[in-house]
Amino acid sequence: MKRELAGAAKDLAAYLKSQDEDLAEVPRGAAARPAGKSPATKAASPARPIPAPAPAHVPVEPADMDSLSEKVRNCRKCGLGHARLNAVFGVGSPKAKVVFVGEGPGFQEDHKGEPFVGRSGQLLDKILETVLGLKRSEVYIANIVKCHPMKNPETPEAHGNDRPPTPEEISACRPYLDEQLRAIRPACIVTLGSVATKVLLGTDKGISLVRGRAYDYPVELFGPGHPIKVIPTYHPAALLRNPNLKRDTWEDMKLLKSFLETGKI
Ligand code: SF4
Repeated sequence: MKRELAGAAKDLAAYLKSQDEDLAEVPRGAAARPAGKSPATKAASPARPIPAPAPAHVPVEPADMDSLSEKVRNCRKCGLGHARLNAVFGVGSPKAKVVFVGEGPGFQEDHKGEPFVGRSGQLLDKILETVLGLKRSEVYIANIVKCHPMKNPETPEAHGNDRPPTPEEISACRPYLDEQLRAIRPACIVTLGSVATKVLLGTDKGISLVRGRAYDYPVELFGPGHPIKVIPTYHPAALLRNPNLKRDTWEDMKLLKSFLETGKI
């Protein structure tokens, strides 16, 4: 009996270790290509210094969102985990057809533990409602990194302390996003702004050069032939700074709307 129990404990420990290793694996690799094009089609250049995703299909069972969220809440894989007030996992429907992805939480998100709150979040909600006829609860909203990147981690209560995530922080956190995508199985990802676009498409081109069309997500989360479409657009904060970008953003959202309605892009 004792020997059987010891064997079972050993198997359980090996299983848990393999789960941690799955999540810790940092995907890297191919650059994005426009949707429907072959890999030989002229592609964007590999991202530098932003880490790019791997093209390989990872055949693992999707994580349970609650346990994944718990893992993120307890995560200290990079330095951001030590300074954050709250980990910001994501919000919305776990069965959403579209997932919106930004670069990382800011001051307000860190305080509330929810992505895209404050003025940027209100504008995103307005875009969802007016262009797509969708509520925040009908899509999924997440970030590349789940904890607030701060210029000075000693002062999480200070305003104006935001900075973009480093390549190391992105690499550490990126597997959580792919686990979320694997669990949600969306038809489409909308990348909000240059950082999210560069990371998810593996390109070094800025958002103004890649927006206006759809791409295949370079990571084959569901096996060959089942790509998730990626539609890059401007970050709502950029629209607040420069309202001239709204017209292009509306065009991108109309592309998304058409895809959601017809399944074609
Ligand atoms: S940013 Fe991501 S990897 Fe870093 S501590 Fe937070 S959850 Fe963990």
